[in-house]
Amino acid sequence: MFRPLTRVPDHPAIELEILEWWAEHGIFDRLRETNRGGPTWSFFDGPVTANRMALGVHTAWGRTLKDVFQRYKALQGYHQRYQNGFDCQGLWIEVGVERELGLNSKREIEEYGLAEFARRCRDVVVRSSRALTEGSIRLGQWMDWGNDYFTFSDTNIEYIWRFLKHVHDRGWLYLGHRSTEWCPRCGTSLSQHELTQAGVYQERSDPSLYVRFPLLERPEESLVVWTTTPWTLPANVAAAVKPDAEYGRRENGEWVATARYPDEPFDRRALGEELVGLRYRGPFDDLGPGGEVDHRVIPWDEVSLEEGTGIVHIATGAGQEDFELGRLHDLPVLSPVDEAGRFYDSYGWLHGLSTSEAADQIVGRLAEQGYLLEAGVYLHRYPHCWRCDTPLIWRVTDDWLIAVDDLRQRLLDANATVEWTPAYMGKRMDDWLRNMGDWNISRRRYYGLPLPFYPCGCGHLNVIGSRVELEERALGGLEQLEELRRPWIDAVPIRCAECGQPVERIKEVGDVWLDAGIVPFSTLGWENPEYVPQGYATGAAEGLTSADLPDHAYWERWFPADWVSEMREQIRLWFYSQLFMSVVLTGRAPFRAVLGYEKMLDEKGREMHSSWGNTIDAPDAFARIGADVMRWQFCAQPPDRNLLFGYGPAQEIKRKLLTLWNSVRFLVDYGNIEGFTPSLDDLASPPVGDGFRPLDRWLAARTQQYVQEATAALEDQLTYRLIESFDGFVDDVSNWYIRRSRRRFWDGEEAALRVLWHALVQGIRGISPVMPFLSEHLWQALVADACEDAPASVFLAGWPKAPEPDVALLAEIAEVRAIVGLGHRARDAAGIKLRQPLRSLLVEGAEVAVGHAGEIAEELRVKSVAFEPLAGAGIRAKPNLRLLGPRLGGRLPAIRAALAEGRFEQLPGGRVRVEGLDLEPEEVFVERSAPQGWALAEEGQLAVALDVRLDSELELEGRVYDLVHAVNSMRKEQGLAITDRIVLTLPDGGDLDRFLDWVKSETLAVEIEHGSELAVRKA
Ligand SMILES: [Zn+2]
Ligand SMILES: [Zn+2]
Repeated sequence: MFRPLTRVPDHPAIELEILEWWAEHGIFDRLRETNRGGPTWSFFDGPVTANRMALGVHTAWGRTLKDVFQRYKALQGYHQRYQNGFDCQGLWIEVGVERELGLNSKREIEEYGLAEFARRCRDVVVRSSRALTEGSIRLGQWMDWGNDYFTFSDTNIEYIWRFLKHVHDRGWLYLGHRSTEWCPRCGTSLSQHELTQAGVYQERSDPSLYVRFPLLERPEESLVVWTTTPWTLPANVAAAVKPDAEYGRRENGEWVATARYPDEPFDRRALGEELVGLRYRGPFDDLGPGGEVDHRVIPWDEVSLEEGTGIVHIATGAGQEDFELGRLHDLPVLSPVDEAGRFYDSYGWLHGLSTSEAADQIVGRLAEQGYLLEAGVYLHRYPHCWRCDTPLIWRVTDDWLIAVDDLRQRLLDANATVEWTPAYMGKRMDDWLRNMGDWNISRRRYYGLPLPFYPCGCGHLNVIGSRVELEERALGGLEQLEELRRPWIDAVPIRCAECGQPVERIKEVGDVWLDAGIVPFSTLGWENPEYVPQGYATGAAEGLTSADLPDHAYWERWFPADWVSEMREQIRLWFYSQLFMSVVLTGRAPFRAVLGYEKMLDEKGREMHSSWGNTIDAPDAFARIGADVMRWQFCAQPPDRNLLFGYGPAQEIKRKLLTLWNSVRFLVDYGNIEGFTPSLDDLASPPVGDGFRPLDRWLAARTQQYVQEATAALEDQLTYRLIESFDGFVDDVSNWYIRRSRRRFWDGEEAALRVLWHALVQGIRGISPVMPFLSEHLWQALVADACEDAPASVFLAGWPKAPEPDVALLAEIAEVRAIVGLGHRARDAAGIKLRQPLRSLLVEGAEVAVGHAGEIAEELRVKSVAFEPLAGAGIRAKPNLRLLGPRLGGRLPAIRAALAEGRFEQLPGGRVRVEGLDLEPEEVFVERSAPQGWALAEEGQLAVALDVRLDSELELEGRVYDLVHAVNSMRKEQGLAITDRIVLTLPDGGDLDRFLDWVKSETLAVEIEHGSELAVRKA
């Protein structure tokens, strides 16, 4: 017996039940145990940042894809690691804690105390990792929970130290003095790849200023510059002109590029190169630093003539290009603001002001002194801190960098070995690798990887590569070293290897992408001599995980990953840092295949932002629509397009799942009536042979085709193709096989029950990686409960295999369904409901459906079907008024009439000749028209014509069908079971006598009485 199904599925309730059942029966453990001896399939999980207190739907998307492919590979017998990871350091974590504690600057963090701050950061990771784990389990993700990696473990840190020492040994590590993007709130520089993250560039309005710089040698003349960053003017050191561009002097002595002001009269013109070398008075020379600078005009080929005045204000200490230009011309560097973006004391009345506070005062002072020509507002896209949203500034700082030029070609070569899906994402990686600058790895923050750099006064840079090395060279402080982390690590000075003097660590911490990039080494035990059970749980990770620190043999077994998958943004982030570190350490790419996917937006296509209130936490979605529906929505998404996520599309998905549910329920109900017992053998080879009809053979073939399509879709990593295939399959099962076989189920025909059972079970198995809960629930109803010796879980049953389907048969029925679809369209067009029988249907262009005339006739309720050209059909043409109206003017009515009356000729290429005029295909709509009394529908080469003329006989039959429909509706309303027999009361009159036997059989009536009105009662 099958376990009966409820009328509709309650997805969240089913899911909670299945979760409990999986846990209780250790299904995942049993699956892993079964696969332990199988071939390996290696997947590295990109760590999710442990700072949110609930799983977000965007994270759920990625986790769904990871789970789908891990489940698919497990069903195929692959042994896997299932290690989940958490990202635990860096600004995400710090900024969250700062908010919790109400801290607003680095000074306040230091006053609060770094040790306590570090503990609070760890606490966030602990709480968040629990919440994310809970959400992921609810999503149905099967991972080795409890053996997760945490990037703040001392082991992870030591592995990065090893990497950095290696980089230093190769001569790639250097302290750069340069201008970088800087977040004044976070007090740190950011690296190029951080600026590529979503949300960094935002629209913003800034002042647009035109400012005069008076020329020293020419008292009545001045240069006009344009700037949108007033705070950089006190740091001005030069003005740049384009040497080969023409400049003009206005009557009032102002110089600008003539190309910018083509309509202005100029009293003198000169090439830029003639202006080079002129000296001018800086706008803030009354402030100390500016006064000491010899301001002059310099040449620069890159000066833009697209905006501004063609003369560019150069502040070497406050702009990247300015800094580089300054190097070229040996210009002084004025750095006006400190780490927090506030003016230094040397800037007199500006001191202590932030760059935005200073802007108003600077504009005011320029106006007072007569230097300001024009002040407006400029709207542009401007970079913001990816974490705290503060507009970035440029500062000249000392940062630690890894030189990439030596590595660039090796990185490109390694990337060429990776199979990217979609392919364009691999090209994006190539572009990035070709154009990226040196990797800025240092951040002036607290809760992060401590960079193990100890520069000594003697000029030697000591780089520590391991904890053992640190302990050997430490001069003290080891007893207080709780974790390899600030503040504790800062209290461990070492002895310089060169001169023997004590040296202290630099204060900087590392870029977080180092933390995640080292994962393929730190979690797999690269070069580790001995396998240490639970050895990964070191430092801050102690007590949070039981993850082992494996040995090198283990690394060799699992490196590189067969597959990784993350959002496209990770090309320049995690995919990049992993590739980089792996190429440095091994010369190879760390992954063989990547599945990338685009962004998640809200239903209306907007970015999701917590401040806009349009983010969705996964737990809310679990409760409202269930995990399976979410997973379906994620998987239906082609990876090269943004996913618009919301509850709207969920309704449509639930409707589709209801079709599946109803099909299973249909089988369960009729199977139980018959006492049908399915056999597992039917899953090994499709049930065909004696006693099976062509329609059964078709469903078996259709099932084989579906299994093959599902397998191919997952092999190609394109889940949306699996969804499309499943969708079409369920429609064929429900709207063709079941509908055409109802009577056989009423009669309890075993062949029909067997072939439908086979189709539904294989259908469920193929979709089980996407919808693990519903599939498991239906497997239990259809298989586990009903078959002897059946696997308890669909996930213990392996991946279905299918022999080659009978493609000729599939093509026949596909064409039959297309013809029937056209027939329905023709009926709709004529406004005739399906219950009304009709005389005949003509079919033109069919290739393989000819043997199925009977089925087509039944489906469309016509007496005859003929395969022949639609002889009586004409061609109808209508003018496209939008195009022809303007072209023809007064001739239009005549042309229109000629087209309507059929007085036209069709020319090759879709053109039409009418009244001596040739019309282009787009100017006229040509379609086939049915003769009087017929309705026509066509698609591609197939066309059908339906005779829609009614005679009294047809009308009478139509009334009989109406009667049967009415009786069956009454049966349902009265809640009769599908097998209940009835006594039917028919109103007197009517001429239905010769149809009564048929009415009885269609309504399970055992007796017909005559009375005043239609009535039904249980017999
Ligand atoms: Zn910031
Ligand atoms: Zn030294």
